[in-house]
Amino acid sequence: METQTKIWLSSPHMGTNEQTYVAEAFKTNWIAPLGPNVNLFEESIQSYVANGVHVAALSSGTGAIHLALEILGVSSGDEVLCQSLTFSASANPIKYLGATPVFVDSEKDTWNISPILLEKAIKDRISKGKKPKAIVAVHLYGMPYKVHELSEISIKYDIPIVEDSAEALGSSVDGINCASFGDIGILSFNGNKIITTSGGGALVSKNKAHKEKALFLATQARDDAPHYQHSHVGYNYRMSNVLAGIGRGQMEVLDDRVAARRSNFEFYKASLGHLKEIEFLNEREGFFSNRWLSCILTASYEMRERLRYALLEDDIESRPIWKPMHLQPIFKNAPNYSDGTSEELFERGLCLPSGSNLTNQDLDRIVSRILKELTQ
Ligand SMILES: *Cc1c(COP(=O)(O)O)cnc(C)c1O
Repeated sequence: METQTKIWLSSPHMGTNEQTYVAEAFKTNWIAPLGPNVNLFEESIQSYVANGVHVAALSSGTGAIHLALEILGVSSGDEVLCQSLTFSASANPIKYLGATPVFVDSEKDTWNISPILLEKAIKDRISKGKKPKAIVAVHLYGMPYKVHELSEISIKYDIPIVEDSAEALGSSVDGINCASFGDIGILSFNGNKIITTSGGGALVSKNKAHKEKALFLATQARDDAPHYQHSHVGYNYRMSNVLAGIGRGQMEVLDDRVAARRSNFEFYKASLGHLKEIEFLNEREGFFSNRWLSCILTASYEMRERLRYALLEDDIESRPIWKPMHLQPIFKNAPNYSDGTSEELFERGLCLPSGSNLTNQDLDRIVSRILKELTQ
């Protein structure tokens, strides 16, 4: 008897050389949050993302957002605009700094922050006497936000952008890679992301001073002195040289991982696209999504739950779209500018298994279960 294995939403997928680079760390005894793997991993991200960007490898994407906001001058009492439809890690660092998140709803075209609502929010906050200090915009599930519209708003009101590219390494707009559009970009290498170091992140900026400040803050903010001298509160956010070895190997297969995830999406679309109950989010002209997670919009909350449970019965993991931050208990008192879009996406949206290591049999099993549920 054949036993079916569990199909996960998004599981790690190692390439060929990860263990070799980790072994190098052991052989040379660079078992520390610095060393050759860290430098080489940073260099490989730099040459992948864009000419002239500077990258600091860190212990998590969350830490990278924390440092980015601090470097851009966010401090206690400030307001920071943040996409509401996202993972909580986009918003939590605003609270670490004692600032207040102001949430902005998504638009249907990209599921990301609406430029129209963003500008409305900025004008309203300014009229209330408080100009926001930064904007956290997110390329959700790998689909880019409207980078040009956002840049225009950022320049017009002189408010910097933290580009949360945690889900979007390998995505691009007009051939320019995500993580290079904002004043500071951030990446995540958590276990479920498109490539992983088991846990890790990076800060990306065209401004070399941003990287230097990030490294200073991430390594306990030591002043230039022979003894331990501190005139600033520091953090312990640097990436381990052991984990950076995994990252080096993963960067070598990144393009394959993007291709595999995009092909998952195309398979779902080809197999389910004819059903009137199911919608897919298409790429706008010039937009290229890494399709980190393949998501569908079902006809209703009830149908979404029905599908989720049906898949679960067959040991297939799926997940509702992120619950918007303005609906989260921890942020219930935060100001928000919403028009109901993210609420509806949350109610009707489902993320399907999307790993780059899914087999054709896995994909067939998932699609058959969905078709059985919807056509029986
Ligand atoms: C994963 C993720 C983060 C956080 O990254 P970690 O490395 O897990 O700390 C931030 N923002 C978004 C949108 C994410 O999906």
